[in-house]
Amino acid sequence: MILIDGKKIAAELREELKLEVSELKNKYNKVPGLTVILIGDMAPSQIYVRNKEKSANEVGLKSEVIKYPDTVEEKTILEKIEELNNDESISGILVQLPLPKHIDKQKVIETIIPSKDVDGFHPMNVGNLSSGYESSVPCTPLGCYLMIKKIEPNLSGKKAVVVGRSNLNGKPMTQLLLKENCTVTITHSRTKDLKAECLEADIIVAAVGIPELVKGDWVKKDAIVIDVGINKTENGLVGDVAFDEVSKNAKALTPVPGGVGPMTIACLLKNTIDCFKRAQI
Ligand code: NAD
Repeated sequence: MILIDGKKIAAELREELKLEVSELKNKYNKVPGLTVILIGDMAPSQIYVRNKEKSANEVGLKSEVIKYPDTVEEKTILEKIEELNNDESISGILVQLPLPKHIDKQKVIETIIPSKDVDGFHPMNVGNLSSGYESSVPCTPLGCYLMIKKIEPNLSGKKAVVVGRSNLNGKPMTQLLLKENCTVTITHSRTKDLKAECLEADIIVAAVGIPELVKGDWVKKDAIVIDVGINKTENGLVGDVAFDEVSKNAKALTPVPGGVGPMTIACLLKNTIDCFKRAQI
């Protein structure tokens, strides 16, 4: 079984991006800039944002975190986004989710200009991705996609099962696999026989949030299995895939932690650089 080492693949990607940033700096005499807006003091968000900032600096991006208390008015956030939309030195804008209840998430997402939407959540980017046009792609599914391609460069005709239909993970993942000419089944909480669906799959991407949902006898021999889940349990962090059981059948599997997580951050940097490059044309 191949253990898909997300940490290593992400480190390689960051090295490539670092080189690209230095070439862009030589060519344009400026570097891509990422601004993250962080509202409130939720510990996981603080950690994610710190990691994002550290990685951005490592590859040579200009990065900035703007912090607000969780009592901040929605209007203040929308005005700040407008200001960043118009700031030429900023290539990418990310508002760290989740947001306090009094702030309308969709309004925030739609206020970010699509060309700086490094999360790929703006309806324009969602539409472009599903139409097969160039777009920002949400970072987590993009990271999953890059890892799958490392294992199997030609995905044409493969059967893929995506477990979970969130806008963040399942839906964009489905679009990326479709673009590669996979036959994709998207499954969810109302799917009648998830085990039977998974047993058909050459590729399984599990993004559910239920610890160890995907069992060993759900997985065809030689399937590629990507585990997006991050679940805190009494036994520590576990994914949506029963790692020990599934590793006996799968051809390749991502660990949790150390699989999808590091790739998500590396893909945020990639998206920021891609936004910068598109803005230079
Ligand atoms: P979500 O809660 O938005 O969506 C979960 C999906 O799972 C839904 O579409 C639902 O229909 C489906 N589902 C629920 N129960 C099911 C069942 N019994 N069988 C099949 N499908 C079922 O979740 P999300 O935001 O997509 O996140 C999923 C997981 O991925 C979470 O554990 C989250 O923490 C993790 N996550 C990891 C990263 C990363 O960087 N590694 C990033 C984002 C999310």
